[in-house]
Amino acid sequence: MKFNTKVIHGGQHHDPSTGAVMPPVYQTSTFVQTSPGKPLADYEYSRASNPTRTALEDALASIENGTRGLAFSSGLAATDCVLRSFKAGDEIIAMDDLYGGTYRMFSRVYKDSGIKFHFVDMTNIEKLKSLINENTKLIWVETPTNPLMKLADIQEIAKITQEKKILLAVDNTFATPYLQKPLDLGADIVMHSATKYLGGHSDVIAGALIVKDEALGEQLHFQQFATGATLGPMDSFLVLRGIKTLALRVQRHCENGEKVVEYLSNHPKIKTVYYPGLKNHPFHEIAKKQMKAFGGMVSFDFKSG
Ligand SMILES: *Cc1c(COP(=O)(O)O)cnc(C)c1O
Repeated sequence: MKFNTKVIHGGQHHDPSTGAVMPPVYQTSTFVQTSPGKPLADYEYSRASNPTRTALEDALASIENGTRGLAFSSGLAATDCVLRSFKAGDEIIAMDDLYGGTYRMFSRVYKDSGIKFHFVDMTNIEKLKSLINENTKLIWVETPTNPLMKLADIQEIAKITQEKKILLAVDNTFATPYLQKPLDLGADIVMHSATKYLGGHSDVIAGALIVKDEALGEQLHFQQFATGATLGPMDSFLVLRGIKTLALRVQRHCENGEKVVEYLSNHPKIKTVYYPGLKNHPFHEIAKKQMKAFGGMVSFDFKSG
């Protein structure tokens, strides 16, 4: 199945009880058991799993070329789920430009956890390598970053993490799998704020993790189930519906982004425009290598400050 078909059909099945092509919003906490411990179908309690969420999670796995998708009540809940696997003494290396909420979690929520965070410029591969030691457990990449549109070369970093047996997680919110597929480039975990492009209609807060390795998927599902920041059935339905038009929307976002960039680049009051599609953008070559097009996100500085 090609990507534009996957966004509609990937991982999807008609509803077995009615033949509905979209999953019903299974707005239920609990599922019947025929005797204690013997559920009627595969479902017991919606924190563990819910059929509407399963439909979304299977769609997520399909569009990112993973084996397991997990849907959370926000992007930050998804990130938090990844961090819960680590303990005092572990070290995590992250980009020096990150979504503000991610940075706040790393630097404040996990401040007294004993986990040590390094924030580095990931274009400097030698610097990155020099920070790795036997305690390094995770490299966290956001590419392109919100807000400064910095990029990191996923394939180059994956070579290091695979050799050193470190996990590589990529926040793929800004690129979406339409433009960039981190798992294909060697990453272990893809994270999304599904609130943004995947949802696409400003009507839901949601997050996602997608992995290729089944054991890692099981471990993350345990954390999700045991801590409980799962996505509700209605919100799962909304994200699933959003994904149906992802390819069309992101294509148009790219076209519109280029027009906005052209306008801003020629504007007398604008000092710098940050957009990976610009030939003078410091990460233009990385963008050409790992992204299908340059996306719809643009940032800029005014000359007046
Ligand atoms: C919005 C955003 C997040 C956080 O997601 P929420 O759904 O708001 O919790 C994480 N990363 C990026 C790049 C974002 O834009």
